[in-house]
Amino acid sequence: MTGIGEGETLDGGCLCGAIRYRLAGPTLFVSQCCCKDCQKATGTGHTTIVGIHRSQLRLEGTPATYTNVGETGGSVTRHFCGTCAGRLYTSGDLPGEFIMVQAGSLDDPGAVSPESVIYLKDAPHWDRFDPDLPKFEAMRPRS
Ligand SMILES: [Zn+2]
Ligand SMILES: [Zn+2]
Repeated sequence: MTGIGEGETLDGGCLCGAIRYRLAGPTLFVSQCCCKDCQKATGTGHTTIVGIHRSQLRLEGTPATYTNVGETGGSVTRHFCGTCAGRLYTSGDLPGEFIMVQAGSLDDPGAVSPESVIYLKDAPHWDRFDPDLPKFEAMRPRS
């Protein structure tokens, strides 16, 4: 377990502070996603995401959204600040009731640590990962 547990919370928000949130544990997973869409949406080699149920996120402020169709065929909606463009979380048809919070938007990103790398097939050759982390070519298989 590399996220937070039951009864614990994490605060976060965008760069300008217009949108704030509180995330309640337990987190489901913490992954580094290297898919092409995450690269384009964040301008980085990969993004680090914290999986939770929708009901575990309490928002203050209204994010702007952008929806496209992901590699798996379902719609994916990215939620971000309309003022500073800070990325907050992603929701979608797949995985449905789950959302993925951007770990970098946490006030203390070090409160979580990634437990896997997904969509490694799309990772740019210059990106580097913890050699001890399990790596998956695409989505992590559901256990
Ligand atoms: Zn903002
Ligand atoms: Zn991705």
